[in-house]
Amino acid sequence: MKIGIPKEISKGETRVALSPNSVGTLVDQGHEVFIETGAGEKSYLKDSQFEKSGAKLVKDVAQLYKSVDVLFKVQPPQIHPSLKKQEAELLNEGSIYIGFIDPFSNPDIVEIFSKRQITSFSMELIPRITRAQNMDALSSMATLAGIRAVILAAEKLSKVFPLMMTAAGTLPPSTVFVLGAGVAGLQAIATAKRLGARVEAFDPRAAVKEQVQSLGASFVELEITEDVETEGGYAKEQSEEFLRKEREVIGARFPKIDIVITTAQVFGKRPPILITEEMVKELKPGSVIVDLAAEQGGNCELTKAGSTIEKHGVTIIGELNLPASVPIPASMMYSKNITNLFTHLYNKENNYTLDFEDEITKGSCVTHNGEIVNEIVRNTVQVTN
Ligand code: NAD
Repeated sequence: MKIGIPKEISKGETRVALSPNSVGTLVDQGHEVFIETGAGEKSYLKDSQFEKSGAKLVKDVAQLYKSVDVLFKVQPPQIHPSLKKQEAELLNEGSIYIGFIDPFSNPDIVEIFSKRQITSFSMELIPRITRAQNMDALSSMATLAGIRAVILAAEKLSKVFPLMMTAAGTLPPSTVFVLGAGVAGLQAIATAKRLGARVEAFDPRAAVKEQVQSLGASFVELEITEDVETEGGYAKEQSEEFLRKEREVIGARFPKIDIVITTAQVFGKRPPILITEEMVKELKPGSVIVDLAAEQGGNCELTKAGSTIEKHGVTIIGELNLPASVPIPASMMYSKNITNLFTHLYNKENNYTLDFEDEITKGSCVTHNGEIVNEIVRNTVQVTN
């Protein structure tokens, strides 16, 4: 197959969908890879490295779109700044698109894909099952976001992290409170511990208590019984009563906390509000909140998505796309994930045809033959065919 990699056009995006290593893997499988000149620049990957791995460089991006059967991207399609055309319209009809699509926020893209008979796969819809771990770009990116969240907080904090016993006196360790101990939260805990902080965490799923403790953090208990877990081990949307109790318990700890990192999310729902303005006032002056759920509305009611603000003496960080601030590992991990997904979907053994009985194929496919395949997208997104 002919696979194309255009340069990412979103503001602030530094990642590229494929690394030279993965180009080599795909070329060895018999595919041809075409890459826009300079596509890897912001990830410090040179054109010459791509060429050496077997990719063909293409200067004219419109030509690139015309020459390929499959397109790999990071960010959802958008209006191309120099071609003044929606990227989804530049693809050949009937071709294949793989990338983050965010179909719930981009129904217009789903509509274009379906009208143009494009077979599209959304990286964020890959089921979080063991078999799909090496394709799970959401987890790869959340891992990096968890690390970056702690580093950003450390930069803004008016204190240092570790316990210091010096001739000039003893400095107590900073206290970091992580709300939500999923992929990003566990990485945040591990990073804060490595920097010498005292770490506490809360998550409604009892199963993560052991993981939190194994990282050396303490687990905050909430004495309320509510069925908060799905059969697959994910968090369910909690009742207002549960959230009220949670805010009460975590808020009571705030006067002793220096940094709060929030990562709480429930699939397909707006993230819960865990920190109200009144609770922000309870934090020590000079403390920091990093809200990783900022893009979906935030876990703190004062968060401004895409900005860092100061309110009541507390810095509230709502920066988006933290993986783009570490493009070298982010591109490498994303590239591995997308290559593994593509190879799972289309390979010699299955004669390069899709198997819609397969959970990963069925779950990640947004559109095929003009139909919406993923059940949740089909039931949520309205398209006018
Ligand atoms: P995840 O699903 O692995 O973890 C989310 C956790 O939140 C789960 O453990 C869940 O049990 C927990 N949770 C649900 N309700 C809660 C509540 N009321 N209180 C406390 N915890 C609760 O998700 P993830 O991959 O770790 O991502 C976490 C967040 O980080 C998401 O909002 C995601 O969009 C965001 N993220 C942001 C960036 C960025 O650059 N800003 C990058 C990657 C991920």
